[in-house]
Order: sequence, then C-alpha cells, then structure tokens
Amino acid sequence: MKVTALAGGIGGARFLRGVKAALPDADVTVIGNTGDDIILHRLNISPDLDTVMYTLGGGISAERGWGREDETFTVQSELAEYGVGPAWFGLGDRDLATHLVRTEMLAAGFPLSDVTAALCQRWQPGVRLIPMTDDRVETHVVIEDAEGRRAIHFQEWWLRLRAQVPALAIVSVGAAEAKPAPGVLDALAEADVVLLPPSNPVVSIGSILAVPGIRDAVRETKAPVVGVSPIIGGSPVRGMADACLMAIGVETSAGGVGAHYGARRLPDGSPGTGLLDGWLVDLVDADVTIPGVRVAAVPLLMTDLAATVEIVRAALELAGV
Ligand code: GDP
Ligand code: CA
Repeated sequence: MKVTALAGGIGGARFLRGVKAALPDADVTVIGNTGDDIILHRLNISPDLDTVMYTLGGGISAERGWGREDETFTVQSELAEYGVGPAWFGLGDRDLATHLVRTEMLAAGFPLSDVTAALCQRWQPGVRLIPMTDDRVETHVVIEDAEGRRAIHFQEWWLRLRAQVPALAIVSVGAAEAKPAPGVLDALAEADVVLLPPSNPVVSIGSILAVPGIRDAVRETKAPVVGVSPIIGGSPVRGMADACLMAIGVETSAGGVGAHYGARRLPDGSPGTGLLDGWLVDLVDADVTIPGVRVAAVPLLMTDLAATVEIVRAALELAGV
C-alpha cells in the first residue's frame, strides 16, 4: 500500500511513527514542511524535516521532541560568550553537523530534496522524506509592538515571543513562486491513501498547501484523504496552534479545523472546495459534523506508540483502506 502524508514537526513525526508500526510493509512518502526553515550563522536549518528524520531514524530527543538525544549546547554557549545570539533557537552540537552537511551540499548546488535524501542515508527513517519544495519559502508573522508594525520570522515569533504577541497575519514568503519538489505531486497522485497528521494546520499543513499545485493534487488524488485533528476539546495538545488559528480567523476546535480543511465532496456528491473525505477527532469532540466529510471519534492522544497505532488504524478505517 502506498501512503502519502503531509507533515510538520513533532505532531507529524509522532503520528508517522504510528504509521510505520501499523503498516510495516507500506511504501510511505512524507511531504515535509519547510516553511519553518531558517538561516542562522549562515547555516541552513530545516527544523521540521530534521524532526521527522530524527524521530523515525531513532535519533530524536525523547524528552524535548526536537533535536538530538544526548545533546550538548557548547557551541551555542560559546557564541553567547561573544554576545552572539539568537539565544531563543536551540542549536545543539550534534545537530550542528546536520546543518553543516545541509549547508555545504546546498552551497555546492544540490537541491534540498537531494540533500534530504543524503541525510536520510544515515538515519534510514523508513519513509521517503521529501521537502514540499526545493525553493526557499519562509513563514513570516506580522506583529505590532513597541517597535511598530513589522514582519518577523516565524521562529522568532514562536520561540522568542512564545506566540504571545498576536499575529496580525501569517505570510508564506516565497510560496507563490515555489514549485513542488520532485516526487511530491506524483506521491499524491499515486497514493492509496493520503493522510493529514495532527500537525499545525496553519504553519505546517497550511504552508505545504501554499505551494502552488499541492493543494490541487490533494483535491484531485483518486485516494481517500483523511485528516487527524491536532485540537482536542478546544485546545492544541502541545504548542500554540491556537495563536496561529486565531490569525487566520479559524476557531480552535476540532470542528473549526475540520471545516477549515473542508470537504472534497458535498453531501449531494457534487465537488466541494476542500480537502477531506474523513476527519478523525477525539472522543470529547464526537459531536463534530462537517457536511460531506465522514467523522469518527477515538482517543487522539499520542501518549505512546501503541496509542498512536490505534489512531492510525482508525484513520485508515475511516479512509476505507
Ligand atoms: P511542530 O512543527 O513541531 O509544531 O509540529 P507539527 O506541526 O507536526 O504538530 C504540532 C501539532 O501537533 C500541535 O498543534 C499539537 O496540537 C499537535 N499534537 C501534538 N501532540 C499531539 C497528540 O498527542 N495528539 C494530537 N491529536 N495532536 C497532537
Ligand atoms: Ca514546525
């Protein structure tokens, strides 16, 4: 079976671990978010690709959910001694090797998709991990504070400001001119099932869908498309997704996000404008209805691998595969 999933960082990666365990023989392609990518100290950093790669490859910090296990931050503290930041972006010593390899390969002219494949040679994540695009796309957030109205990098808003300053707008800079990376559209067209994991609907799934062609490919695939809610009982399970949803005027609820993704087909069978055939919500959200979308409710906390496998099985059942 061919499974294609769009994925952000922690939520996406944990769900994918369940996909691999539930379907050990499946051919899984992951279209990763690169909107969170940032250049620091001239290094190309792709946090969400790395979270998926390390999580599935056995190198993730279980405690933090991002970055490497047994990590040290010596280089970052030496930089701080020089008064060089930013302090808000964790740059681990082990992790630095990944950023150095990526940066050197990009500088030598390799596209990010080739670089990602090369990094995955080491980690063997057991899925084909493709960035959404080889072009540079960065999510920026428009805020207004004492320094006036300005756009800052998503990472600065998320990590330094903890998303506490309201986002007036969230902009995917470069997305309109970006092209899907090689393999992205084919993976959607040829899938037997397309999954939207419980990733951030705005800055993870939303930025992938902002690359022209990807949203249409999800809508047009012959495969069923099923999403899993990152919102349980009106709150994100982890992180500040509510601040992102507020910025785009979507209610922080399983029903709100499901309706935002929308139905591929309306109840009368005519085409809808959305993405979903099925929407999986938590038991506490069992009353959610979205016209044209099959909704099922199961416990959605990915507390351990066994619980995550049950979530994946429910999503596959909803997809009818
Ligand atoms: P990020 O890039 O690291 O922020 O990760 P993602 O975009 O992939 O996922 C973030 C989302 O995962 C957040 O909005 C959380 O609500 C959601 N999430 C995290 N853990 C769980 C969980 O156990 N269950 C569900 N349903 N969602 C979760
Ligand atoms: Ca992310």
